Amino acid sequence: MTKPNVPDNLCPIAVEHSTMLTGDWRAVRPVVDRDRCVKCATCWLYCPVQCMVARSTWFEADLSVCKGCGICAEECPHRAIVMIEESE
Ligand code: SF4
Ligand code: SF4
Repeated sequence: MTKPNVPDNLCPIAVEHSTMLTGDWRAVRPVVDRDRCVKCATCWLYCPVQCMVARSTWFEADLSVCKGCGICAEECPHRAIVMIEESE
């Protein structure tokens, strides 16, 4: 079988790398109530993009990569996360 004449560095789907981050198209974002958060890391465990970041006494999302799926808010056992519209 003959190999197609395609350059090794040519992606068949896209020829340019996109610099867009998930945070660029998010519609809602998580906000952590620091008084409620007990730093249990459940949100970190469930976040599909691993963007929850540990602070001194709480966790918060890295909004440059958070995609706004809301799983962290659903899974937080202390109801410390609410999802708000990006426009708020
Ligand atoms: S799951 Fe809730 S309580 Fe636990 S670290 Fe995350 S925000 Fe804090
Ligand atoms: S909204 Fe989704 S992507 Fe953003 S921090 Fe929560 S679980 Fe992670």
